[in-house]
Amino acid sequence: MSFRRIRQLTLLSLLVFTVAQTSYQQYVPRQWQRTTSVILHPIAAVDDPDVQVYIDSLSDDDLRPMEKWFFEQAQSYGITVKPYQFQWGERVESMPPQPPSVSNPLQAAWYSLKFRGFASTQTPATLTQWAKVHIYFLVHPADSAENLHSVALQRGLVALVQARGSRLNHDQNMVILAHELLHTVGATDKYDMVGNPVYPDGYASPDQLPLYPQQMAEISAAQVAIRPGLSKLVDSLQNAKVGKLTATEIGWR
Ligand SMILES: [Zn+2]
Repeated sequence: MSFRRIRQLTLLSLLVFTVAQTSYQQYVPRQWQRTTSVILHPIAAVDDPDVQVYIDSLSDDDLRPMEKWFFEQAQSYGITVKPYQFQWGERVESMPPQPPSVSNPLQAAWYSLKFRGFASTQTPATLTQWAKVHIYFLVHPADSAENLHSVALQRGLVALVQARGSRLNHDQNMVILAHELLHTVGATDKYDMVGNPVYPDGYASPDQLPLYPQQMAEISAAQVAIRPGLSKLVDSLQNAKVGKLTATEIGWR
């Protein structure tokens, strides 16, 4: 066989593998017939003692309430298998690429390639790992003035969660994590350009009378509507739920 032929065959088998892997990753976790493992990799965004203290404080026990929340939400739509199991994985020292602040489709595609490249070098897929979700948990100082933009790839089961590094922010960090994770199985955002939840699908109780103030948030909006045009980021998953449209998008109904 000529060198050219071998090269063609190698490229072809790589392509087949990638297509198979991508299809599996898109299809199987959305069947909700078995528990998907999610591995969270802490990364310190800056060399800061408070960020280190927060990262050192993270334990698998912290993740049980989120696991329970997902199961309760799934059960409310008739899903009987626990959707996710979370664990902290190895710390990553390299910085993930920052998502573009405003993104057109071309920038989004380019970012997706860069982020996938980062994920495959930092946490290479092994035979036992390739079906797992990897979330990079980038911890910033709690008082960071930066507008922290988290992102998840719809294809590839990887997400970047930008967290604030203090125990006081921990519950909100878990809200952002749950929100991003649902993107990996097809949930769309349900907030508008200024961050207010979109009615009705971004409201936890769209039929409530009076409509305002809402007590809880729909997870794909993650905002509690106080009155028209005013909302606040929900403080904890205990005050968030998976709304009907999100449940449909992710295959729960
Ligand atoms: Zn989102």
